[in-house]
Amino acid sequence: MVGSESTSKDVQTSLSVFAGVSNSDDLGSTDGLRNGGPPYVDVSTRLVRYCQQLADVYLAFWGLTQQPISHESFLGFRAALFQYLGPREDTPLQLQEIFDAYADPIFKTRVVHAATRWAIAHEMAHAVATRPVRKRYEALIRPLWPTLDEEWRGASAAARTSYQDEIACDLLAVDFVLDSPFGRDDVMTQAGGSLLVLMATIWDGWLTDASATSMSHPSPTLRFHIVSQYWLTKFADRSTWESAQAPGPLAVLDHAMWTVFERWSAGEYGLARSGDVWRDDYFAKLDELVEAIPSVTADTIYAMHSDGGISRVQNR
Ligand SMILES: [Zn+2]
Repeated sequence: MVGSESTSKDVQTSLSVFAGVSNSDDLGSTDGLRNGGPPYVDVSTRLVRYCQQLADVYLAFWGLTQQPISHESFLGFRAALFQYLGPREDTPLQLQEIFDAYADPIFKTRVVHAATRWAIAHEMAHAVATRPVRKRYEALIRPLWPTLDEEWRGASAAARTSYQDEIACDLLAVDFVLDSPFGRDDVMTQAGGSLLVLMATIWDGWLTDASATSMSHPSPTLRFHIVSQYWLTKFADRSTWESAQAPGPLAVLDHAMWTVFERWSAGEYGLARSGDVWRDDYFAKLDELVEAIPSVTADTIYAMHSDGGISRVQNR
């Protein structure tokens, strides 16, 4: 997302940073206060709306994959479901029925909150992380994605510098979230939230500037994959689970599904490929996760109150 570096270099604390949600044009931004004071970070209502809509689509996708469905229908639903993200105001009746059938208000609320949190954390990284810290995080990128140079072949040196800084802020955002109280309770949902933000960024790019190449931001699809890989290293790190509760099986399945959802939404499961390819991808990701996570325990049960608030009921 957009970050103004001129105001952020010397600020090393988040104590004085003002964060909020507004109707800004950028999905997320960082800037200085008008009087030259400390920075603020801002996440747009458009980003939150995309995340809510994509959470609906994700849940519908989850549901559709759990029942026998022809490959043609599997692909056909992609077009129908993604019409929902377009500029139209209403939701076609047939889609509304699908969304209603697979609605999960508790999951949706939690993952959208996690997404907003991660988007703020990303902007916070632009605002408060010093240059040396960001450089340290830049050094983490290449091991996570060894084909980086290939991806960025043809990009100018200036663009590469921006791309690396952007991804460094993505990785910092993961660590900020993990260091916060939110990283103790439900790590998998926090991880899902970060991937949801990057899915929203992919969609915003398609809808607003088609395939325009950005000088400041790397491909959001690449960011999705690198952040996903970074979470995997966090899951495999035992110190993550010293302060965080181990996930339950459903949370792990959910996380594996994000990867498949991203590929499906990108149209990677075309008719030329076997209908079961997505299942192979799903189980491959699941294997990776189970291998990385030291222990899978029990899913946490949440309840939604009449005012829309959510609380943890118990761990099974
Ligand atoms: Zn950014």
